[in-house]
Amino acid sequence: APSGRSAALRTRMEERLLAARFRYINQQLYTSTSWEAAQLFQSDPEAFQIYHRGFAQQVGRWPENPVHRIIRYLRRRPASLVVADFGCGDCKIASSVRNKVHCFDLVPLSPQVTVCDMAKVPLAAESVDVAVFCLALMGTNLQEILEEANRVLKQGGTLMVAEVASRFEDIRAFLNAMAQLGFRSISKDLSSAFFHLLEFAKAGPPRRRPAPGLRLRPCLYKRR
Ligand code: SAH
Repeated sequence: APSGRSAALRTRMEERLLAARFRYINQQLYTSTSWEAAQLFQSDPEAFQIYHRGFAQQVGRWPENPVHRIIRYLRRRPASLVVADFGCGDCKIASSVRNKVHCFDLVPLSPQVTVCDMAKVPLAAESVDVAVFCLALMGTNLQEILEEANRVLKQGGTLMVAEVASRFEDIRAFLNAMAQLGFRSISKDLSSAFFHLLEFAKAGPPRRRPAPGLRLRPCLYKRR
């Protein structure tokens, strides 16, 4: 029936529009500072819903979601460790482990979320054992964000970073810059074509301004 055909066409058009809006919001997030991102979502809460739908679709195409690797890692370690999940999204970590997990994001997808900019989280200095950034190092003020993670981590605490593999220009330069920020590389898993999983220990406070190698490329999705 023609009406069925036009309904299908309409649905397809709507999906294309949503996909285009997702790509646009995603690009804004990767090319602005974390406080600009906070303003974007405050002024347009619908943008956040669209972003998250698109994000879940993208990661759903991957053979493995890195958040599950982080959950497995946490389950192997004592449940008494306090965790901070920076850019927690829908709080998959908090709902999958027994640990106390502080969940931070710009908009609450779940009641467990504390709404804040990850560059300034409401936690005392040296109060957490594990800090997590799972596909969440989006702002261009990367240094400030990682300094905040350093501040809240206990000495010797763990920093877990899962990031899209293509965002790294030079992994060695990145690890050197991390060392200058006080994070010693413990392990790196570069085996997935989609994401890198990096584990660090807090060796101390930031030592000096990191080298330019701290930069990550924006993660821009292609039109499909
Ligand atoms: N870690 C989750 C979600 C990743 S999507 C998972 O792996 O499933 C990236 C998340 O980071 C989004 O929810 C986004 O809102 C959040 N985010 C981006 N910039 C942020 C900022 N400046 N402060 C807090 N959260 C931020």
